[in-house]
Amino acid sequence: MSVQHVLVINCGSSSLKFAVIDASSGDELLSGLAERLHNDDATLKYKFVGNKEQNALPAGADHKIAIDTLVTLIHQYDLAKDLIAVGHRVVHGGEQFTGSQVITPDVLDVITQTAQLAPLHNPANLTGIQAAQAAFPELVQVAVFDTAFHQSMPKHAFLYALPYSLYKEHGVRRYGFHGTSHHYVSTQAVETLGLAADNHRLITAHLGNGCSVCAIKNGASVDTSMGLTPLEGVVMGTRSGDIDPGLFDYLTSQLGYSVAEVNTMLNQQSGLLGISELSNDCRTIEEAYVEGHEQATLALDIFCYRLAKQIAAYLVPLKGLDALVFTGGIGENSDIIRAKVLAHLSFLGCQIDEQRNLAARFGKSGVITSETSLITTMVVPTNEEWMICQDAARLAKGA
Ligand code: ADP
Repeated sequence: MSVQHVLVINCGSSSLKFAVIDASSGDELLSGLAERLHNDDATLKYKFVGNKEQNALPAGADHKIAIDTLVTLIHQYDLAKDLIAVGHRVVHGGEQFTGSQVITPDVLDVITQTAQLAPLHNPANLTGIQAAQAAFPELVQVAVFDTAFHQSMPKHAFLYALPYSLYKEHGVRRYGFHGTSHHYVSTQAVETLGLAADNHRLITAHLGNGCSVCAIKNGASVDTSMGLTPLEGVVMGTRSGDIDPGLFDYLTSQLGYSVAEVNTMLNQQSGLLGISELSNDCRTIEEAYVEGHEQATLALDIFCYRLAKQIAAYLVPLKGLDALVFTGGIGENSDIIRAKVLAHLSFLGCQIDEQRNLAARFGKSGVITSETSLITTMVVPTNEEWMICQDAARLAKGA
């Protein structure tokens, strides 16, 4: 059988993850991350068959510049010839898509239309798709939606208590995001912990720049913290998460903000950044916290308190819990945040093991609670790229 590689492109709000993956073995030939896009210190780091390299990106580099650099690398390492497909992570697929799709003009139209529901993400995803179509016009391009995994949520979990006509006529409902990640880490946890595929209850916390929590029963999402847009739920890097909807009227009619200004505030100026007035980057917040910075400490406290409350709430749909799973840049690396969240849950019999908590960082998975903990908690590095690769290869082969 000929070698078949998939280029996976995952444009986050401020990052671009990419990988060229062997679709049969899962081996990553080229993989990398452009980080801090739109900031002065944007960088692109990558590995080519295990060797670490770094490319300077110009200050303020955006997704388009990062993708152009990636295409140059693919040609430089002669990887284009074995590519069979490009798989794109797309954040919002609305209610139309319950699974991955080959990208056609109609699919592109829906992604463009739903951009208003995911203003930080779908535009970045579209940039990625357009740049990849231009660079590799002969390849099948596949969209893998963050919303698809949550289409199993029951109506009582996905509907808002709003006039029903808003749902029927305009699709106003909770969609949920990070589905590819929640799906992947839950599958890994079920396997690692030896749980039965048809009998398990998990809570997964994906904590990256965007953060969401998901309740999973027997492999299916039954509730999740993000809603119509990726703004609802727990506190995030720059996003507020849940707020009183009455705030909107107060800010616009009493304080003179425009609707656009409130939107920008809630999406880009709130969360860890808004409270700390320092940074949206968890590493910076943690450094300041260790030095005793008051607002950084407050930002971490609010982040962890709200996250623990959300986790505890999912004991309602699950009626019990086999494991809690942390993932995403923060969930995989921040022993401080994990310890603070588990401390809030100690009344449920959750006991952290400090050594294990320190060991499960920087790409290492593992259980971080003690043998006697009533709630097993583990860290599973997410691998959305592998999930996207598998779907893209399947659809490219017409399966
Ligand atoms: P995205 O949602 O853009 O994919 P990531 O999953 O890469 O983001 O997560 C980014 C977040 O992870 C940032 O807040 C970053 O500070 C945090 N992070 C990365 N490494 C560490 C670390 N060693 N300690 C604490 N936080 C970290």
